[in-house]
Amino acid sequence: MAKEMPFQVLVRDLPTRRTFHVPTELVGEWLKGLPMRDALGAPEGDPEAGHGVADLELYADGAHAFAAGSFRGELTVACSRCIIPVKLVIDEKVRVTFMPRQEIPDDDAPADAAGEEEGPEVAEEDLDVFPFDGERIDLEPLFREQFVLAIPYAPLCAETCKGLCPQCGIDRNTGSCTCEPPIDPRLAALKGLKIPS
Ligand SMILES: [Zn+2]
Ligand SMILES: [Zn+2]
Repeated sequence: MAKEMPFQVLVRDLPTRRTFHVPTELVGEWLKGLPMRDALGAPEGDPEAGHGVADLELYADGAHAFAAGSFRGELTVACSRCIIPVKLVIDEKVRVTFMPRQEIPDDDAPADAAGEEEGPEVAEEDLDVFPFDGERIDLEPLFREQFVLAIPYAPLCAETCKGLCPQCGIDRNTGSCTCEPPIDPRLAALKGLKIPS
């Protein structure tokens, strides 16, 4: 990676309006290790990994800084059933706060200690807060999050995707096979039983 930090903005330069481009190499790097990305078997530096553009107003108010605007982009992951590439589109409104690390609730605290009332709502708000040192805003974690959060739990090329045959691996969307579903060995044993009528 280049030593210059293209996603960092000095607080003394605020307020400002900036456009940031996230190149495909970076997207590939960020998504490396995610199962739905690795399943593609894409080469290092895959030009189809994705890209993004953030258009942000950045401003500061005392100890806090803010970013508001939009993030658009796309990324490619594998269909969770047939592993063909699926293009996901990102078109998100961005509104985040940067605050000193010590003001941010401790994410590492064990779930039990955090208290029972902490529902998903609280967790969602946490996503919109990023730490900063009071001097420079680092937008990279924000951009990275846009890509990671864009990936659904089980991406699909189509709702109707038939997936791969678990026995022979054929893509059932484009071919067929004569594999029979395996029979549970316990049921197989029962098959031999004669049920008295
Ligand atoms: Zn599929
Ligand atoms: Zn098969």
